[in-house]
Amino acid sequence: MRKCARCQTEMVENCSIKVEGAGYGVVMAIDDKHLFSKRIGKPKVAICPDCCEVSIYVENVKNLDR
Ligand SMILES: [Zn+2]
Repeated sequence: MRKCARCQTEMVENCSIKVEGAGYGVVMAIDDKHLFSKRIGKPKVAICPDCCEVSIYVENVKNLDR
């Protein structure tokens, strides 16, 4: 469960970002100067039904180098 950073209301999760006018979504990636950019995955979106705050997050962070 994801809470709004502003008002602590429970957010509506599992929404997605789409490019308007097309069926495409967007993909997040880490820029790598030597190779192709490394894909992290599709961002997910949570929306606060109370204050309309939008929060973008990833479910899978195993591709992040930490
Ligand atoms: Zn909120």
